[in-house]
Amino acid sequence: MSIIVQKFGGTSVANTERLRNVADIVTSTYKQGNDVVVVVSAQGDTTDDLIEKAAEINENPSKREMDVLLHTGEQISMSLLAMAIEKMGYPVVSLTGWQAGMETDRNYGGARIKRVAADRIRSELDRKRIVIVAGFQGINREGDITTLGRGGSDTSAVAIAATLGADLCQIYTDVDGVYTADPRIVKDARKLDAITYDEMLELASLGAQVLHNRSVEMAKKYNVDLEVVSSFTRNPGTKVKEGSNVEKMIVSGVARDNDCARVAIINLEDTPGVAFKVFSLLAKHKVNVDIILQSVGRDNKKSITFTIPEQNAEMVQALLEENKEMLGFEALSVNTHVAKVSVVGAGMASNPGVASKMFEALAGANINIRMISTSEIKISVLINEDDSEAAVKAIHEKFFSN
Ligand code: ADP
Ligand code: ASP
Ligand code: MG
Repeated sequence: MSIIVQKFGGTSVANTERLRNVADIVTSTYKQGNDVVVVVSAQGDTTDDLIEKAAEINENPSKREMDVLLHTGEQISMSLLAMAIEKMGYPVVSLTGWQAGMETDRNYGGARIKRVAADRIRSELDRKRIVIVAGFQGINREGDITTLGRGGSDTSAVAIAATLGADLCQIYTDVDGVYTADPRIVKDARKLDAITYDEMLELASLGAQVLHNRSVEMAKKYNVDLEVVSSFTRNPGTKVKEGSNVEKMIVSGVARDNDCARVAIINLEDTPGVAFKVFSLLAKHKVNVDIILQSVGRDNKKSITFTIPEQNAEMVQALLEENKEMLGFEALSVNTHVAKVSVVGAGMASNPGVASKMFEALAGANINIRMISTSEIKISVLINEDDSEAAVKAIHEKFFSN
C-alpha cells in the first residue's frame, strides 16, 4: 500500500462533468489499496473573477482581506469533489488549509509554508477516508488565512507529500506533461519523459507556469517523487527527478515570462557604493531584481538597468523618484512592455555554442535583444513583449527541429 498525493488544477475541476472525471481518477487510485490525499485548485477562472470583484469594490484592498476572499475558490472545489465521491459510495472528507494544518508565514498573497501539522490528515487516512485538501491556502501565527501566490496549489500538494513521506505526488493538469515549450505557443513542442529538478526549477521560475516554482524547490529539497500528468488523457506524463541530464539533451526547454519590467536609472555618479544604495533600497522593499546591467562609466557618470516583476513597476518607480536626491541620478525610465525568453538545459555547461545558436535564432527572426543574462544551465534575453511569441517559436525551431 502506498500514500499518493494527487493535485488537480483549475481546468481539471472546472465543471460538474470534470469533477466527476476527477472523482473517477481518485477513487480508482483508492480502490487499488492506496491512501489518497487530493489537493484541489479553484474551478476554472474563479480566482481571476474574485480578483475582479475585489477591484470593483476597492482598487487597493488590504492583502489580508484579499486572502480571505481568494481562499474561498478552493473551498468550493473541495466540497463539490467530496460530494461527487460521496455519491459514488466512498468514504471521504474535505479540509480547508487551516483544518489540514498548512502553517505559513504571515506574508499575505505570497505566503511560504513553514510546516504541515498533518495530524488531522493522518487520522483521516487511518480511518480509511479519501482526504481532500484545499490548495493555495494556509494559516499564519496570527490565526489569519493566507494564500501562497498564484499557482500555489502545486506547492500545497508537494508540501503534503513531503510531510507524509508520500510515495508519489501527481500534478494533474490540462496538458499531458512538461513540454520543450508551452504547447499553446509552439504546436510541435515535444513532451519530455523526464526532467531534472534543477531544470524544472529554472523553467518554472522563468515563466513555464505548468508547475509553481516553489513546488519544484520543495520537491527537490525533500526528494518528492513528482509527476506531471493530464487529467483528460491516460498518456504517460513527465517525471521530475534527481539525476544529471536525464534525457541527455543539451537544451531541455524554452520559457517565456511576460510579467517583467525593465528599469533604467540614467546617469548616476560613477563612485563606489552607488549600486549598493540602489539595490539595498530595493531589497528593503522586498523587490526581486533579476537581470542587472551597468553601463561603462563616462564623464564620471554611469547608468544601471535591471528587471523586476511587472507588478512592482509602479511601486519601484515611485520609490526611486522619492529617493532621487539621495541616489543622485538624472533620469528614470520604466518599461513594462518587455518579456524574458530563456533556454534551459543542464547540458549547456559542457557544450559551447548554445548562446550563439539562440542569438542566431533571434537574429533570423529580426528580434532585437535588450539585455542578456546567463548561468550554468540557462540563458535569458530581454526583448520587446510583442516579439515574445515569435522569439519562443524561432528559438524552439532552432534547437528542436531535426
Ligand atoms: P493548472 O490549472 O492545472 O495548475 P496551469 O495553467 O497552471 O494549470 O499550467 C498548465 C499550463 O502551463 C498549460 O496549459 C500550458 O499552456 C502552460 N505551460 C507553459 N509552459 C509549459 C511547458 N513547458 N510544458 C507544459 N505546459 C506549459
Ligand atoms: N487558484 C489559485 C490560482 O488561480 C491557485 C492555483 O490554481 O494553484 O492561482
Ligand atoms: Mg497551475
